[in-house]
Amino acid sequence: MDKNTTDYKENYIQAKSAVNWDEYFMFQAIMASFKSKDPATKVGCVFVDQNNHQITFGYNGFVAGIDESKLPWGKLKTAPLEHQKYGYVVHAEANAILHSPGSLKESKCYVTLFPCHECAKLLASSKVQEIIYLQDKHQGTESNTIARKIFDLTNIKYRQLKLAPEKIEQLTDHFKLMTE
Ligand SMILES: [Zn+2]
Repeated sequence: MDKNTTDYKENYIQAKSAVNWDEYFMFQAIMASFKSKDPATKVGCVFVDQNNHQITFGYNGFVAGIDESKLPWGKLKTAPLEHQKYGYVVHAEANAILHSPGSLKESKCYVTLFPCHECAKLLASSKVQEIIYLQDKHQGTESNTIARKIFDLTNIKYRQLKLAPEKIEQLTDHFKLMTE
């Protein structure tokens, strides 16, 4: 430190961000999932470039522009597909890809749930480089296995991110501070 700096050394505090980039974008993905109307499974995702700039985001929802009041949110499998949400819902990753303003080549996808095989096809075809996911509650299902196979065969890396409970508490405290 030079002389002037030494005089004011109380101000030279070492500061650190509360979140790293992985945590930051996963929180963004969680926020996107919060917007989903699906009463059972809310999924959100964010795509970022090599410089950690957000490119696009998405959450699961009905086909854009459709009259939602005429569609079912239920998932009762005994009903025909026409009367289940599965007939009409677009997944978070698909929505993000559809609404992306630019190329997703070599991007990273932060997503709250490990992608299904249909989204894996879109992610691989978009040349996404890495998938960072939070939950993997469908592990072992056929769709999940196919998705992994697609990622392995296209050299897309994937890894699970664990959010520490303290980090979530910290964020909750921050939310309270921002809204009091
Ligand atoms: Zn999907």
